[in-house]
Amino acid sequence: MSPQLAKRDIRRLAEVLLLPEDELISEYLQPGEDKGAYVSRQAPCPFLQDKLCTVYEARPDNCRSFPNLHKRDFRSRLIQVVENSTVCPIVYNVLELLKLEFWRGRGRR
Ligand code: SF4
Repeated sequence: MSPQLAKRDIRRLAEVLLLPEDELISEYLQPGEDKGAYVSRQAPCPFLQDKLCTVYEARPDNCRSFPNLHKRDFRSRLIQVVENSTVCPIVYNVLELLKLEFWRGRGRR
């Protein structure tokens, strides 16, 4: 997965990595789909090492909010949630619990 980075994410990462922002961008990032946003040049993320985030305290907001289960309009994002369940155990477990709740609720009708 490739998080989008906004200007504030780049500023935070540049501070932690002790790099000028333009150097961080040229070395690690490329323009993303949203105006002014960037994504990583490579996958997996260059800051992932041995299954750990090496910039955890300065990670982008996208990383902080993943898997976005707390955000509004959960039902309108169900396709994305199902896709995320193939790579994220937390999303998988939430979906499994929802299925149980759904079938329990159906038995009460
Ligand atoms: S949490 Fe860290 S390693 Fe994972 S995508 Fe975000 S910045 Fe990269």
